Amino acid sequence: MLPRELVPLPEHIYPPDPWRIVENAFAAEHIDRAETIFSLSNGYLGVRGTFEEGRPALSPGTFVNGFHETWPIVHAEGAYGLAETGQTIVNVPDATILKLYVDDEPLYLPVANLPEYRRVLDMSSGTLTRDLLWSTPSGKHVSVGTRRLVSLEHRHLLAITYEVTVTDQAAPVVISSQVANRQDARLGEDPEPVRPDDPRLAKDFGRRVLNAEVLGGEAGRLLAGYRTTESGMTLGVGVDHVIETENPHRIERTLDEDLGKLVLTVDARPGVPVRITKYATYQRSRSVPAAELVERCERTLDRAIETGFAALETRQREHLDLFWSRADVEVTTDGDGAEIQQAIRWNLYQLLQASWRAEGSGIPAKGLTGQAYEGHYFWDTEVYVLPFLAYTQPRIARNLLRFRHSMLDAARRRARVLSQRGATFPWRTINGEEASAYYQAGTAQYHLNADIAYAIRKYVDVRGDVDFLCEVGAEILVETARLWEDLGFYGEDGLFHIHSVTGPDEYTTVVNDNAYTNLMARLNLNYAAAAVRRLQEDRPDDYAALCHEVDLAEGEVERWEQAAAAMYVPFDEERGINPQDDAFLARERWDIDATPRDKFPLLLHYHPLVIYRFQVIKQADVVLAMWLLGDEFSLEQKRRNFDYYEPLTTGDSSLSAAAQSIVAAEIGRHDTALEYFRYALLMDLADISGNVSDGVHVASTGGMWMALVFGFGGVRDFDGALSLHPRLPGAWRRMVFRIRFRQRQIRVELTHDEERYEMVEGEPLEARIRGEAYVLSVDEPLVLTVH
Ligand code: BGC
Repeated sequence: MLPRELVPLPEHIYPPDPWRIVENAFAAEHIDRAETIFSLSNGYLGVRGTFEEGRPALSPGTFVNGFHETWPIVHAEGAYGLAETGQTIVNVPDATILKLYVDDEPLYLPVANLPEYRRVLDMSSGTLTRDLLWSTPSGKHVSVGTRRLVSLEHRHLLAITYEVTVTDQAAPVVISSQVANRQDARLGEDPEPVRPDDPRLAKDFGRRVLNAEVLGGEAGRLLAGYRTTESGMTLGVGVDHVIETENPHRIERTLDEDLGKLVLTVDARPGVPVRITKYATYQRSRSVPAAELVERCERTLDRAIETGFAALETRQREHLDLFWSRADVEVTTDGDGAEIQQAIRWNLYQLLQASWRAEGSGIPAKGLTGQAYEGHYFWDTEVYVLPFLAYTQPRIARNLLRFRHSMLDAARRRARVLSQRGATFPWRTINGEEASAYYQAGTAQYHLNADIAYAIRKYVDVRGDVDFLCEVGAEILVETARLWEDLGFYGEDGLFHIHSVTGPDEYTTVVNDNAYTNLMARLNLNYAAAAVRRLQEDRPDDYAALCHEVDLAEGEVERWEQAAAAMYVPFDEERGINPQDDAFLARERWDIDATPRDKFPLLLHYHPLVIYRFQVIKQADVVLAMWLLGDEFSLEQKRRNFDYYEPLTTGDSSLSAAAQSIVAAEIGRHDTALEYFRYALLMDLADISGNVSDGVHVASTGGMWMALVFGFGGVRDFDGALSLHPRLPGAWRRMVFRIRFRQRQIRVELTHDEERYEMVEGEPLEARIRGEAYVLSVDEPLVLTVH
């Protein structure tokens, strides 16, 4: 088990609820976590769950996917080809702020007398609401209700309603609606980073990032256009207000580079509400002038006002209905049912929030819920999120892979820098260039290239979308296969070896023949060859176009197949396991049980050289390979590998638990599978890594879905054929999940007595269930008795 503790939020404040995250009281001690947990996002625009009052706030943030600043990476000791330019997602001006004053008294939650308070993230409607009753120091009662949404329909749009009613006596009410540039706000202060030594946090620039090029608007409208200092990206920000009240009122507005304000002063009569609907919109670009983006913002605002908040809410719910009809997983247990169901849905909801409108960009490791990991895209998308999307929203999976393809030219250039043929995609990036300064645990993770190939195969197999191969998929496959052929070499043993790479486990770097890498490279080489051959046979025109595009040479495909066939895969006869790499077993074993709990994650407490000397693992590596390439290992081999690596795995990366859960389920370690599932499930809600305040662990949320559907549901798609081998945990009574496979929508309901396989939509499909072939069709559900 992982050396980790679950620290759940207290139930009397955050009661379990299957569809909502509820906060029944203002709790200062939990605002750090709550800012992440109550984040809203649509994959393009995200806001952290800070309060409308603007404070208290730990790290307020509004993010636009891909909108980043660059900075020169200063290497104390440089070397040829190291990454040169850092990229950091920018905290764009915060439009969530609506400060309230009654009788000149500010509503400040930590000291306010709040007879009623409730904040709710409703995952079926896609809104964050807060209703409170404030008993002011001057003895008045004020009800305050807010509703907030980041539109799934209009991806540039955030909308908030803020309604204030003095209930008993008349009072002067002031609402200051603001849009504040927080990215540059700390300039001039002595910036004291929260955890200065944590490499996972974003860079503090110590200089101005956002420079206003346009400031404008009139009446309730505030408009600003910015250009970033170094990356030269442009941003348009537009905010508008619709004010509804029968109370006498007046409005003042001010706007400068860092703060826009609309101040509404109201002589509020008892029982007569004041309602502000605030629309905020963001546009980003690498090439369009800021002024033009501001014009676009104006158009979005006009449309939003015409549409109105209620209609936005209706559309929001329609998007969520679609999402849940494809993605919901229901679990019934005897005991802590609501808690599990709530956590499952919250994780799934994060996947929606990270991806729904991410078209034209990737998925940052934290989604748009925090600035940690700098807003970078890693392999997390391809290996941890894409399977979920391929099985629930294949259109989004396709967009993400197309986005990867848009970085292919940069990857080709990078390969030249690294003296390789083909393409090497950057370990972490926003704009396609390598942004990982620490090459040992970054650029050296060549496996990312095979992970992308794996994701292409997954998508094509699950959706049956061969057109995708013709459009862009095959091109990536060819260039990554070329990389492997060039990177590896034939050893004296006649086998194909790949040296000086880092596998997924970042606690063991720059090694020879990392098993995961070699196995995944083999998949990449074989799949590239198969894809090219398939086009050659079935689609000669597309094949001709591909040959032209990538300049395919005579005999290349055969060479990939030869390299794949000769691929060396480390195996230790004596122990019957796959060593993680060629030298792994010779290292000293790290005793995780004897390591004090406060020394985890190891990366924050030990010099890398200490960690690298030992057999100690940050995250599943061979175990991950056994999940992704499950048909290449026997059950017995899986058992032995799992047993060997489990005591060496710290789980210091949140990407570990889900893979461990899936493999444990497959080898019949049901309790262990459930235990690891709980780690993945509660990674954020019970703050298992201790850093949920920095943002959601998106890969873990995808892993959680995989552990449910692939682990307990036993879904597999080897060679494009659907099979299921369910293993409902003994402690659960029922589980229902949905998958989309080749234009079919399938619902699976598992209990310990009976299993129901229902084709909801689509043509009949053959599937193997526990090894037997069945045909699923819409005419009749398949019901099997469980023995
Ligand atoms: C993990 C990587 C992962 C990154 C972003 C690191 O801690 O080791 O595998 O890609 O986090 O989630």
